[in-house]
Amino acid sequence: MILLELFKKNRTCTHDRVRPDRDFSYCPDCGELIENRWFLTRCSCCGVKLRATLKNGEVVPESNYCKNCGGHEFTVERIEKINFIDIDYAVLVKEVVKPAVSDKVQTWIDLKTSNYTQELLPQYL
Ligand SMILES: [Zn+2]
Ligand SMILES: [Zn+2]
Repeated sequence: MILLELFKKNRTCTHDRVRPDRDFSYCPDCGELIENRWFLTRCSCCGVKLRATLKNGEVVPESNYCKNCGGHEFTVERIEKINFIDIDYAVLVKEVVKPAVSDKVQTWIDLKTSNYTQELLPQYL
């Protein structure tokens, strides 16, 4: 019984109940902020889309060669917005967003500054 409880507590959450249709949401099971990231893989030889899957936490093509040209090399591509064409090929990675890491926040601020603030609100600069 005790062993079972320990096992349960130490089990890493797979965030199964996080909805895939939003970019960010809180996991109802562990409370972490989760970012949904979609990836697809392409043959780096002919560029055809290869159905992606997760293996040991890494995005890889489902088959280990390209059915179009027979190539074994592939590239992984991040999709910003998933669409119904790519959803068959893409794999969803649920990434925990750590609030302490400020890289992403910095990027957002930079984007905001160049896109909006300079033109619309010059007095704030
Ligand atoms: Zn979770
Ligand atoms: Zn190919």
